[in-house]
Amino acid sequence: MPDGGDPPLAGPAPIEVTDSHQATVGGATVRRALPRRGRRTVGAWCFADHFGPAAVTENAGMDVGPHPHMGLHTVTWLVEGQLLHRDSLGSEQVIRPGQLNLMTAGAGIAHAEEATGQHLGTLQGIQLWVAQPDAVRFGSAAFEHHGALPQVEVDGGVATVLIGELGGARSTARADTPLIGAELLLRSSTTVPLQAGFEHALVVLDGAVAVDGQPLVPGRVGVLGLGRDEVVLDVRERARVMLLGGEPFESPILMWWNYVARSREEIDAAHASWSQQDDRFGRVRSRLPLIPAAPPFWQAASGE
Ligand code: MN
Repeated sequence: MPDGGDPPLAGPAPIEVTDSHQATVGGATVRRALPRRGRRTVGAWCFADHFGPAAVTENAGMDVGPHPHMGLHTVTWLVEGQLLHRDSLGSEQVIRPGQLNLMTAGAGIAHAEEATGQHLGTLQGIQLWVAQPDAVRFGSAAFEHHGALPQVEVDGGVATVLIGELGGARSTARADTPLIGAELLLRSSTTVPLQAGFEHALVVLDGAVAVDGQPLVPGRVGVLGLGRDEVVLDVRERARVMLLGGEPFESPILMWWNYVARSREEIDAAHASWSQQDDRFGRVRSRLPLIPAAPPFWQAASGE
């Protein structure tokens, strides 16, 4: 902030708050905070689905069969419950609350997310995607599991750092571009340090906060533009908030189904590979059936 004597400056723009979009994934309703109209990315974060809380029973859980990805990282974070990740690299990993699964798609990978059969109760979490930059988006696929993550005390609560650095705590999780991803568990109001060169999104998973006088609750998303070096979270009730941010992404992206690309041709090629089950995305050992993709709308429109 300017010291006394400088002319008054217009501060950073106030938070933009909008409703998440309701969608259905694997039979469950999700609150899709990103992408949103007019805001495809926040840093390299390009997708955010808050799922649950939903009951897991013997007959109903979150079972998402094998499906492909390219050009992105998937970031899985649970609040309650557990999931089993399997992918075409041969990874098999149970994830529990407080742990991070980070899968890098590069040129192509396939994975499935299954109920573990061990957990009956409630499932809640957030599935995030991070767009990969040109330098690595056609690179190798990879998978990381982080069983424990750095935490840092902040006024009013504790922050767990999934990706990047906050308050001196740094995650070792892979980041292809400058990013922050953190969970803030807050009992009372707090000021969170931000990097002024990042744009940020706030997604409330539980509870209620307010920023710039605007309420944020589950099902809404707040976006903060560049130029903020902190944000004051006015905690109305005990809250769990995801802070997602990063440097503005290098280029516009094209997202279709599970792919992040730059052109329709790239997506056409991925669609052909998944439809034909050639070797590009590999095979996932899963009891669940493969998820088929409808053709991209531009193929249907041209009668192909
Ligand atoms: Mn996926």
